[in-house]
Amino acid sequence: MKILVINCGSSSLKYQLFDMDNEEVLGKGIVERIGIDGSRIKHEVDGEKFVQDIVADNHTQAIEKVFEVITDEENGLVSSLDEITAIGHRVLHGGEELTESTLIDDHVKEVIKEYVKFGPLHNPANLMGIEACEKIAPGKPNVAVFDTAFHQSMPAMNYIYGIPYEYYEKYRIRKFGFHGTSHKYITKRTAELLEKPEDEINIITVHLGNGSSLSAVKNGKCFDTTMGLTPLEGLMMGTRSGDLDPTVLTFLMEEEGFTPAEMNSILNKKSGALGVSQMSSDFRDLEDAAEEGNERAKLTLDMFSQRVRKYIGAYMAELGHVDAICFSGGIGENSLIMRADIVSGLEELGIEIDAERNNTRKEALISSDNSRIKVFVVPTNEELMIARDTLELTK
Ligand code: ADP
Repeated sequence: MKILVINCGSSSLKYQLFDMDNEEVLGKGIVERIGIDGSRIKHEVDGEKFVQDIVADNHTQAIEKVFEVITDEENGLVSSLDEITAIGHRVLHGGEELTESTLIDDHVKEVIKEYVKFGPLHNPANLMGIEACEKIAPGKPNVAVFDTAFHQSMPAMNYIYGIPYEYYEKYRIRKFGFHGTSHKYITKRTAELLEKPEDEINIITVHLGNGSSLSAVKNGKCFDTTMGLTPLEGLMMGTRSGDLDPTVLTFLMEEEGFTPAEMNSILNKKSGALGVSQMSSDFRDLEDAAEEGNERAKLTLDMFSQRVRKYIGAYMAELGHVDAICFSGGIGENSLIMRADIVSGLEELGIEIDAERNNTRKEALISSDNSRIKVFVVPTNEELMIARDTLELTK
């Protein structure tokens, strides 16, 4: 059975085709600059890459092109779309209504539309991708897999904000959490690594990429997470501020005359590592600059590590017993420096990594034999999770 996974952003669209008989990736690619001049598709099969300039003024044209490329006689992946059983879509926000992956029907689309209010960039793009597939491949099952779903097991004490309760009732203002598909994948994989049933593990999942979040996972279920109503809360990220005193916003809006949209844009796109360092949101650049003595780059990295460390401590307190801490995401999987820095000084809490074992970018145990709590690198695989859920729902 073949499953196509689609991750539709506002101006890009990533795809992967899986053969679910052995969970093998048959091919993958990305359409870039949708709706902008210079659209192109990058298609990859067996390590070979093909780039083509295309017309993609909208998501329908982008999906048409994807279907054309994957059924291409020479470099395609299937001989016809009939070979694809179903399509799985990554969707940012499913709100309180959609708490697990689900076959898409009119009701599901209505909920995705309703939550555009809290996912103004992603939910409309996700919906465009879904509607384009429905139009071009009518009758093919479409499944939505939500970034928020895994976190719906959080208790109210962790998701209700300390503001008048009426705003939760009126608008559903609460913590939702994101990266759920990644945190869920890491949880499943860590249970296998620990050789324990999933519902018996307590772990802290640490997903560090352009967007970063931690989850406290209790008995295999999300108990708390750092992102909130939107992906802005929690850690300081590549370009997002993370936690700050809300008065910062009201002060700046008054003093600088920023509109809510401008303030949002500053907090989401111009803050975080980029905002503090004033040089880059990419941790490779920051690590290089810090190495060369750039003080601001060093401050940025120290701030990032300190915040991750602080949440690890907080989640240890929330969970009581912790079996493992798992690093994932572009930074968590690749930056040996950040991993070592984040857990430095936590020996008293039973966390110690082994420098030699930490010298890896693959799935591995990196804690020392003395470490009471195991530390793993678990490369995430959100696309595979989406493909698995899609298969399950369309079997
Ligand atoms: P996204 O959140 O967009 O999925 P990723 O999880 O791929 O992003 O993470 C991207 C980030 O990972 C980059 O911005 C970069 O900061 C970081 N990164 C990737 N490779 C390395 C590396 N070798 N060392 C340090 N940071 C890295």
